Amino acid sequence: MIATKSFLPGETILSTSPQAYLPSENEERCATCFVKSTSLKKCKGCSYAHYCSRKCQIVDWKSNGHSKLCKYMVKLRKQLRNQSELSDAILLIKTFSDTSRRDFVSSMCFHVPTSSSLERSSKRLIHTIQSTVPWISKCSKEKLLQTLYRFGSNNFAITDDLLLKTGAGVYPEGALLNHDCVPNCVVTYDGLVQNIRCIRKIKEGEELTHSYVMFVVLLNLQHLTPTPHHTPTPHSTLQHRYVDVFATTKDRQDDLCMNYNFKCKCSLCSSTNDDRDSWIGEKSRRSDVLDFAERFAMRAHAENDVKQEIALLHECLRLRESCCHTYDRLILKTRNALMSACLSQGDYKQAALHCEIVVRMYSKIYHPMHPMTALQLSTLGNLRVEIREVEKGLKELESAVHVLRVTHGKDSSLVHSIEALIRDAST
Ligand SMILES: [Zn+2]
Ligand SMILES: [Zn+2]
Ligand SMILES: [Zn+2]
Repeated sequence: MIATKSFLPGETILSTSPQAYLPSENEERCATCFVKSTSLKKCKGCSYAHYCSRKCQIVDWKSNGHSKLCKYMVKLRKQLRNQSELSDAILLIKTFSDTSRRDFVSSMCFHVPTSSSLERSSKRLIHTIQSTVPWISKCSKEKLLQTLYRFGSNNFAITDDLLLKTGAGVYPEGALLNHDCVPNCVVTYDGLVQNIRCIRKIKEGEELTHSYVMFVVLLNLQHLTPTPHHTPTPHSTLQHRYVDVFATTKDRQDDLCMNYNFKCKCSLCSSTNDDRDSWIGEKSRRSDVLDFAERFAMRAHAENDVKQEIALLHECLRLRESCCHTYDRLILKTRNALMSACLSQGDYKQAALHCEIVVRMYSKIYHPMHPMTALQLSTLGNLRVEIREVEKGLKELESAVHVLRVTHGKDSSLVHSIEALIRDAST
Protein backbone atom coordinates (compact mmCIF):
# COMPACT_ATOMS: atom_id res chain seq x y z
CA MET A 1 0.00 0.00 0.00
CA ILE A 2 1.43 3.33 -1.09
CA ALA A 3 0.77 6.70 0.57
CA THR A 4 -1.10 9.00 -1.81
CA LYS A 5 -0.35 12.00 0.41
CA SER A 6 2.06 12.84 3.20
CA PHE A 7 1.26 11.88 6.79
CA LEU A 8 2.36 13.10 10.20
CA PRO A 9 3.09 10.83 13.19
CA GLY A 10 -0.16 9.83 14.89
CA GLU A 11 -2.33 10.30 11.81
CA THR A 12 -4.71 7.43 11.11
CA ILE A 13 -4.27 5.98 7.66
CA LEU A 14 -6.86 3.23 7.94
CA SER A 15 -9.72 2.59 10.33
CA THR A 16 -11.84 -0.48 9.57
CA SER A 17 -14.21 -2.95 11.17
CA PRO A 18 -13.55 -6.68 10.83
CA GLN A 19 -15.19 -8.73 8.12
CA ALA A 20 -15.44 -11.53 10.69
CA TYR A 21 -14.12 -11.98 14.20
CA LEU A 22 -14.24 -14.14 17.29
CA PRO A 23 -13.16 -13.74 20.91
CA SER A 24 -10.12 -15.55 22.27
CA GLU A 25 -11.88 -17.01 25.30
CA ASN A 26 -15.30 -18.10 24.11
CA GLU A 27 -16.92 -18.50 27.50
CA GLU A 28 -15.44 -15.43 29.11
CA ARG A 29 -15.92 -12.79 26.43
CA CYS A 30 -19.02 -11.52 24.70
CA ALA A 31 -18.95 -12.78 21.10
CA THR A 32 -20.03 -9.37 19.82
CA CYS A 33 -18.31 -6.68 21.89
CA PHE A 34 -15.53 -8.75 23.57
CA VAL A 35 -16.39 -7.43 27.01
CA LYS A 36 -15.02 -9.81 29.65
CA SER A 37 -17.56 -10.99 32.18
CA THR A 38 -18.42 -13.94 34.39
CA SER A 39 -22.15 -13.51 33.82
CA LEU A 40 -22.44 -13.94 30.06
CA LYS A 41 -25.54 -15.62 28.68
CA LYS A 42 -25.30 -18.59 26.31
CA CYS A 43 -27.11 -18.62 22.98
CA LYS A 44 -30.04 -20.99 23.49
CA GLY A 45 -29.74 -22.30 19.96
CA CYS A 46 -26.14 -23.51 19.95
CA SER A 47 -25.06 -23.20 23.60
CA TYR A 48 -21.74 -21.99 22.21
CA ALA A 49 -21.82 -18.24 21.59
CA HIS A 50 -21.88 -16.10 24.75
CA TYR A 51 -23.24 -12.55 25.07
CA CYS A 52 -23.15 -9.74 27.60
CA SER A 53 -26.57 -8.39 26.60
CA ARG A 54 -29.61 -8.98 24.47
CA LYS A 55 -28.43 -6.13 22.26
CA CYS A 56 -25.12 -7.86 21.51
CA GLN A 57 -26.93 -11.10 20.78
CA ILE A 58 -29.16 -9.35 18.22
CA VAL A 59 -26.16 -7.68 16.55
CA ASP A 60 -24.40 -11.04 16.26
CA TRP A 61 -27.53 -12.67 14.87
CA LYS A 62 -28.41 -9.96 12.37
CA SER A 63 -25.09 -8.47 11.29
CA ASN A 64 -22.32 -10.91 12.23
CA GLY A 65 -23.57 -14.06 10.60
CA HIS A 66 -24.65 -16.02 13.67
CA SER A 67 -28.07 -16.66 12.10
CA LYS A 68 -26.29 -18.53 9.30
CA LEU A 69 -24.20 -20.56 11.73
CA CYS A 70 -26.18 -21.18 14.93
CA LYS A 71 -28.10 -24.29 13.97
CA TYR A 72 -25.00 -26.05 12.59
CA MET A 73 -22.78 -25.35 15.61
CA VAL A 74 -23.64 -28.50 17.56
CA LYS A 75 -22.81 -30.73 14.61
CA LEU A 76 -19.68 -28.75 13.75
CA ARG A 77 -18.38 -29.07 17.29
CA LYS A 78 -18.94 -32.81 17.21
CA GLN A 79 -17.13 -33.21 13.92
CA LEU A 80 -14.15 -30.97 14.48
CA ARG A 81 -11.26 -32.25 16.46
CA ASN A 82 -10.14 -29.22 18.40
CA GLN A 83 -10.76 -25.60 19.29
CA SER A 84 -8.41 -24.27 16.63
CA GLU A 85 -10.25 -26.07 13.83
CA LEU A 86 -13.53 -24.80 15.23
CA SER A 87 -12.19 -21.21 15.32
CA ASP A 88 -11.08 -21.49 11.70
CA ALA A 89 -14.47 -22.89 10.71
CA ILE A 90 -16.42 -20.14 12.49
CA LEU A 91 -14.29 -17.37 10.97
CA LEU A 92 -14.61 -18.89 7.53
CA ILE A 93 -18.38 -19.31 7.74
CA LYS A 94 -18.78 -15.77 9.10
CA THR A 95 -16.57 -14.39 6.34
CA PHE A 96 -18.72 -16.06 3.70
CA SER A 97 -22.01 -15.04 5.33
CA ASP A 98 -21.41 -11.41 4.37
CA THR A 99 -20.79 -10.76 0.70
CA SER A 100 -20.20 -6.99 0.89
CA ARG A 101 -16.41 -7.13 1.28
CA ARG A 102 -15.81 -10.43 -0.52
CA ASP A 103 -13.70 -8.65 -3.16
CA PHE A 104 -11.36 -7.35 -0.51
CA VAL A 105 -11.04 -10.79 1.04
CA SER A 106 -10.14 -12.33 -2.29
CA SER A 107 -7.51 -9.64 -2.85
CA MET A 108 -5.48 -10.96 0.11
CA CYS A 109 -2.58 -13.11 -0.96
CA PHE A 110 -2.33 -16.77 0.01
CA HIS A 111 0.13 -19.61 -0.05
CA VAL A 112 -0.57 -23.30 -0.10
CA PRO A 113 1.03 -24.72 3.08
CA THR A 114 4.38 -26.36 2.54
CA SER A 115 3.51 -29.08 5.02
CA SER A 116 1.41 -31.78 3.41
CA SER A 117 -0.25 -32.70 6.70
CA LEU A 118 -1.44 -29.10 7.11
CA GLU A 119 -2.74 -29.17 3.56
CA ARG A 120 -4.57 -32.42 4.25
CA SER A 121 -6.12 -31.16 7.49
CA SER A 122 -7.20 -27.93 5.74
CA LYS A 123 -8.92 -29.93 3.01
CA ARG A 124 -10.59 -32.10 5.61
CA LEU A 125 -11.81 -29.00 7.45
CA ILE A 126 -13.40 -27.59 4.28
CA HIS A 127 -15.03 -30.94 3.59
CA THR A 128 -16.53 -31.00 7.11
CA ILE A 129 -17.80 -27.42 6.79
CA GLN A 130 -19.40 -28.11 3.41
CA SER A 131 -21.06 -31.31 4.53
CA THR A 132 -22.40 -29.64 7.70
CA VAL A 133 -23.51 -26.20 6.49
CA PRO A 134 -25.73 -26.60 3.40
CA TRP A 135 -25.68 -22.97 2.20
CA ILE A 136 -21.88 -22.88 2.12
CA SER A 137 -21.69 -26.03 0.02
CA LYS A 138 -22.75 -23.83 -2.90
CA CYS A 139 -19.38 -22.04 -2.72
CA SER A 140 -16.57 -23.78 -4.55
CA LYS A 141 -14.28 -25.96 -2.49
CA GLU A 142 -11.27 -24.24 -4.03
CA LYS A 143 -12.48 -20.77 -3.04
CA LEU A 144 -13.10 -21.84 0.55
CA LEU A 145 -9.73 -23.49 0.77
CA GLN A 146 -7.98 -20.42 -0.62
CA THR A 147 -9.75 -18.24 1.94
CA LEU A 148 -8.64 -20.56 4.71
CA TYR A 149 -5.06 -20.28 3.45
CA ARG A 150 -5.47 -16.50 3.33
CA PHE A 151 -6.32 -16.53 7.04
CA GLY A 152 -2.93 -18.08 7.74
CA SER A 153 -0.90 -15.09 6.64
CA ASN A 154 -3.46 -12.28 6.79
CA ASN A 155 -5.57 -12.51 9.91
CA PHE A 156 -4.94 -10.28 12.86
CA ALA A 157 -4.84 -10.89 16.58
CA ILE A 158 -7.15 -8.26 18.05
CA THR A 159 -5.68 -6.66 21.17
CA ASP A 160 -6.84 -4.32 23.90
CA ASP A 161 -5.15 -1.04 24.83
CA LEU A 162 -2.48 -2.95 26.74
CA LEU A 163 -1.74 -5.13 23.71
CA LEU A 164 -3.25 -8.22 25.34
CA LYS A 165 -4.98 -10.46 22.87
CA THR A 166 -8.77 -10.39 22.99
CA GLY A 167 -9.60 -12.25 19.80
CA ALA A 168 -8.95 -12.80 16.12
CA GLY A 169 -10.27 -10.92 13.13
CA VAL A 170 -10.34 -10.77 9.35
CA TYR A 171 -9.39 -7.24 8.28
CA PRO A 172 -8.94 -7.45 4.52
CA GLU A 173 -7.98 -3.78 4.08
CA GLY A 174 -5.40 -3.87 6.88
CA ALA A 175 -3.97 -7.05 5.39
CA LEU A 176 -2.87 -5.07 2.33
CA LEU A 177 0.03 -3.53 4.24
CA ASN A 178 3.36 -5.26 3.85
CA HIS A 179 5.77 -6.09 6.63
CA ASP A 180 8.88 -4.20 7.67
CA CYS A 181 10.93 -4.97 10.79
CA VAL A 182 11.30 -1.18 11.15
CA PRO A 183 7.78 -0.16 10.09
CA ASN A 184 6.33 3.31 9.58
CA CYS A 185 2.87 2.37 10.89
CA VAL A 186 1.50 0.54 13.89
CA VAL A 187 -1.76 -1.39 14.37
CA THR A 188 -3.92 -0.90 17.46
CA TYR A 189 -7.60 -1.52 18.20
CA ASP A 190 -10.40 0.56 19.58
CA GLY A 191 -12.70 -2.26 20.60
CA LEU A 192 -13.01 -4.11 17.31
CA VAL A 193 -12.09 -1.21 15.06
CA GLN A 194 -8.63 -1.65 13.66
CA ASN A 195 -6.65 1.58 13.48
CA ILE A 196 -3.44 1.82 11.55
CA ARG A 197 -1.48 4.93 12.45
CA CYS A 198 1.76 6.43 11.23
CA ILE A 199 4.55 6.44 13.76
CA ARG A 200 6.78 8.76 11.78
CA LYS A 201 6.52 11.32 8.99
CA ILE A 202 5.59 9.64 5.73
CA LYS A 203 6.10 11.21 2.32
CA GLU A 204 3.73 10.86 -0.60
CA GLY A 205 4.66 7.77 -2.62
CA GLU A 206 6.27 5.93 0.31
CA GLU A 207 5.16 2.38 1.04
CA LEU A 208 3.10 2.00 4.22
CA THR A 209 4.26 -0.90 6.39
CA HIS A 210 3.68 -2.42 9.79
CA SER A 211 5.50 -5.16 11.62
CA TYR A 212 4.12 -8.70 11.59
CA VAL A 213 6.60 -9.43 14.29
CA MET A 214 4.71 -9.71 17.53
CA PHE A 215 5.45 -9.81 21.17
CA VAL A 216 5.18 -13.30 22.61
CA VAL A 217 6.59 -13.21 26.09
CA LEU A 218 4.26 -13.27 29.12
CA LEU A 219 2.28 -10.08 29.09
CA ASN A 220 0.77 -9.77 32.51
CA LEU A 221 2.39 -6.72 33.84
CA GLN A 222 0.92 -3.54 32.62
CA HIS A 223 -1.09 -2.74 35.72
CA LEU A 224 -0.38 -1.95 39.30
CA THR A 225 -3.14 -4.38 40.13
CA PRO A 226 -1.72 -7.78 39.23
CA THR A 227 -3.67 -9.68 36.63
CA PRO A 228 -3.62 -13.46 36.31
CA HIS A 229 -0.82 -14.95 34.26
CA HIS A 230 -1.62 -14.48 30.64
CA THR A 231 0.00 -16.76 28.16
CA PRO A 232 -0.84 -16.05 24.55
CA THR A 233 -1.83 -19.41 23.15
CA PRO A 234 -1.95 -20.23 19.49
CA HIS A 235 -5.59 -19.99 18.62
CA SER A 236 -5.71 -21.88 15.42
CA THR A 237 -3.83 -24.10 13.09
CA LEU A 238 -3.65 -21.45 10.43
CA GLN A 239 -3.99 -18.15 12.20
CA HIS A 240 -1.97 -15.93 14.49
CA ARG A 241 1.37 -17.58 14.34
CA TYR A 242 3.73 -15.14 15.90
CA VAL A 243 7.18 -14.17 14.92
CA ASP A 244 9.10 -13.11 17.97
CA VAL A 245 10.73 -9.72 18.09
CA PHE A 246 13.20 -10.96 20.69
CA ALA A 247 14.86 -13.21 18.17
CA THR A 248 18.08 -12.97 16.26
CA THR A 249 17.88 -11.67 12.68
CA LYS A 250 18.23 -15.17 11.30
CA ASP A 251 15.51 -16.63 13.54
CA ARG A 252 13.22 -13.69 12.77
CA GLN A 253 13.74 -14.09 9.04
CA ASP A 254 13.21 -17.87 9.21
CA ASP A 255 9.98 -17.32 11.13
CA LEU A 256 8.73 -14.71 8.67
CA CYS A 257 9.56 -17.02 5.82
CA MET A 258 7.83 -20.00 7.40
CA ASN A 259 4.71 -18.12 8.53
CA TYR A 260 4.32 -15.53 5.81
CA ASN A 261 6.31 -16.93 2.93
CA PHE A 262 8.74 -14.15 2.20
CA LYS A 263 12.34 -13.29 2.88
CA CYS A 264 12.48 -9.94 4.67
CA LYS A 265 14.85 -7.49 3.03
CA CYS A 266 14.08 -4.49 5.23
CA SER A 267 16.77 -2.12 6.47
CA LEU A 268 17.15 -4.03 9.76
CA CYS A 269 17.44 -7.42 8.07
CA SER A 270 19.96 -6.23 5.50
CA SER A 271 22.02 -4.13 7.89
CA THR A 272 25.45 -5.60 8.43
CA ASN A 273 26.50 -3.56 11.44
CA ASP A 274 23.48 -4.39 13.55
CA ASP A 275 24.77 -5.63 16.88
CA ARG A 276 21.29 -6.62 18.10
CA ASP A 277 22.08 -10.25 17.52
CA SER A 278 24.89 -10.16 20.02
CA TRP A 279 22.51 -8.95 22.75
CA ILE A 280 19.95 -11.69 22.35
CA GLY A 281 20.02 -15.45 22.14
CA GLU A 282 22.15 -17.92 23.97
CA LYS A 283 25.73 -17.01 24.77
CA SER A 284 26.73 -20.60 25.10
CA ARG A 285 24.95 -23.87 24.57
CA ARG A 286 24.41 -24.66 28.20
CA SER A 287 21.20 -26.56 27.85
CA ASP A 288 21.74 -28.33 31.19
CA VAL A 289 21.85 -24.98 33.02
CA LEU A 290 18.86 -23.69 31.09
CA ASP A 291 16.87 -26.83 31.88
CA PHE A 292 17.72 -26.37 35.52
CA ALA A 293 16.62 -22.72 35.37
CA GLU A 294 13.37 -23.77 33.70
CA ARG A 295 12.65 -26.09 36.61
CA PHE A 296 13.00 -23.14 39.02
CA ALA A 297 10.67 -21.10 36.81
CA MET A 298 8.08 -23.84 36.82
CA ARG A 299 8.28 -24.28 40.57
CA ALA A 300 7.92 -20.51 40.98
CA HIS A 301 4.85 -20.50 38.73
CA ALA A 302 3.19 -23.19 40.83
CA GLU A 303 4.18 -21.65 44.16
CA ASN A 304 1.42 -20.12 46.29
CA ASP A 305 3.69 -18.34 48.71
CA VAL A 306 4.89 -15.13 47.04
CA LYS A 307 8.07 -14.87 49.11
CA GLN A 308 9.01 -18.39 48.07
CA GLU A 309 8.10 -17.59 44.46
CA ILE A 310 10.42 -14.58 44.45
CA ALA A 311 13.28 -16.63 45.90
CA LEU A 312 12.83 -19.28 43.18
CA LEU A 313 12.68 -16.64 40.45
CA HIS A 314 15.92 -15.07 41.67
CA GLU A 315 17.58 -18.47 41.44
CA CYS A 316 16.19 -18.89 37.95
CA LEU A 317 17.42 -15.43 36.93
CA ARG A 318 20.92 -16.12 38.22
CA LEU A 319 21.15 -19.29 36.13
CA ARG A 320 19.71 -17.73 33.01
CA GLU A 321 22.00 -14.73 33.27
CA SER A 322 24.96 -17.09 33.42
CA CYS A 323 24.30 -18.40 29.92
CA CYS A 324 22.11 -15.93 28.07
CA HIS A 325 22.81 -12.51 26.62
CA THR A 326 21.62 -9.42 28.51
CA TYR A 327 18.53 -8.96 26.35
CA ASP A 328 17.52 -12.57 25.94
CA ARG A 329 13.80 -13.18 26.14
CA LEU A 330 14.28 -15.73 28.91
CA ILE A 331 15.78 -13.03 31.08
CA LEU A 332 12.99 -10.67 30.11
CA LYS A 333 10.45 -13.30 31.04
CA THR A 334 12.05 -13.82 34.46
CA ARG A 335 12.23 -10.09 35.15
CA ASN A 336 8.57 -9.75 34.18
CA ALA A 337 7.60 -12.60 36.49
CA LEU A 338 9.63 -11.05 39.31
CA MET A 339 7.94 -7.73 38.79
CA SER A 340 4.54 -9.39 38.83
CA ALA A 341 5.34 -11.25 42.06
CA CYS A 342 6.63 -8.07 43.73
CA LEU A 343 3.45 -6.26 42.71
CA SER A 344 1.23 -8.91 44.21
CA GLN A 345 3.25 -8.64 47.42
CA GLY A 346 2.71 -4.88 47.38
CA ASP A 347 6.46 -4.30 47.13
CA TYR A 348 6.34 -1.45 44.61
CA LYS A 349 9.95 -0.48 45.19
CA GLN A 350 11.28 -3.85 44.06
CA ALA A 351 8.68 -4.00 41.29
CA ALA A 352 9.93 -0.64 40.00
CA LEU A 353 13.47 -1.97 39.98
CA HIS A 354 12.56 -4.92 37.73
CA CYS A 355 10.28 -2.74 35.65
CA GLU A 356 13.10 -0.29 34.99
CA ILE A 357 15.29 -3.10 33.65
CA VAL A 358 12.45 -4.37 31.46
CA VAL A 359 11.97 -0.85 30.04
CA ARG A 360 15.67 -0.75 29.24
CA MET A 361 15.41 -4.11 27.45
CA TYR A 362 12.39 -3.02 25.44
CA SER A 363 14.01 0.26 24.41
CA LYS A 364 17.00 -1.63 23.13
CA ILE A 365 14.99 -4.14 21.09
CA TYR A 366 11.91 -2.27 19.90
CA HIS A 367 11.90 0.77 17.66
CA PRO A 368 11.41 4.01 19.64
CA MET A 369 7.72 4.44 18.83
CA HIS A 370 6.72 0.90 19.77
CA PRO A 371 3.66 0.92 22.04
CA MET A 372 5.07 -1.92 24.15
CA THR A 373 7.91 0.21 25.48
CA ALA A 374 5.51 3.07 26.17
CA LEU A 375 3.13 0.79 28.08
CA GLN A 376 5.94 -0.53 30.23
CA LEU A 377 7.21 3.00 30.77
CA SER A 378 3.77 4.10 31.94
CA THR A 379 3.75 1.22 34.45
CA LEU A 380 7.16 2.36 35.65
CA GLY A 381 5.98 5.97 35.98
CA ASN A 382 2.95 4.74 37.83
CA LEU A 383 5.09 2.74 40.26
CA ARG A 384 7.41 5.69 40.85
CA VAL A 385 4.50 7.91 41.77
CA GLU A 386 3.37 5.23 44.23
CA ILE A 387 6.79 5.11 45.90
CA ARG A 388 6.96 8.92 45.98
CA GLU A 389 9.62 9.33 43.32
CA VAL A 390 7.18 11.73 41.70
CA GLU A 391 9.53 13.82 39.60
CA LYS A 392 11.10 10.80 37.89
CA GLY A 393 7.67 9.18 37.54
CA LEU A 394 6.16 12.22 35.86
CA LYS A 395 8.96 12.28 33.30
CA GLU A 396 8.36 8.61 32.49
CA LEU A 397 4.60 9.07 32.24
CA GLU A 398 5.12 12.05 29.91
CA SER A 399 7.40 10.07 27.59
CA ALA A 400 4.95 7.17 27.64
CA VAL A 401 1.93 9.27 26.78
CA HIS A 402 3.86 11.02 24.00
CA VAL A 403 4.23 7.67 22.21
CA LEU A 404 0.76 6.37 23.10
CA ARG A 405 -0.89 9.48 21.59
CA VAL A 406 0.73 8.42 18.32
CA THR A 407 0.05 4.67 18.54
CA HIS A 408 -3.37 4.63 20.25
CA GLY A 409 -4.67 8.08 19.27
CA LYS A 410 -5.01 11.29 21.30
CA ASP A 411 -8.57 10.44 22.29
CA SER A 412 -8.04 6.86 23.43
CA SER A 413 -9.16 6.03 26.95
CA LEU A 414 -5.66 4.81 27.75
CA VAL A 415 -4.14 8.19 26.87
CA HIS A 416 -6.81 9.98 28.89
CA SER A 417 -6.19 7.80 31.94
CA ILE A 418 -2.44 8.49 31.86
CA GLU A 419 -3.07 12.21 31.39
CA ALA A 420 -5.32 12.13 34.46
CA LEU A 421 -2.60 10.34 36.40
CA ILE A 422 -0.09 13.02 35.40
CA ARG A 423 -2.50 15.75 36.51
CA ASP A 424 -3.10 14.05 39.86
CA ALA A 425 0.58 13.44 40.50
CA SER A 426 1.56 17.00 39.61
CA THR A 427 -0.69 18.57 42.24
ZN1 LIG B 1 -21.45 -7.57 24.36
ZN1 LIG C 1 -26.28 -19.81 18.59
ZN1 LIG D 1 13.20 -7.33 8.25
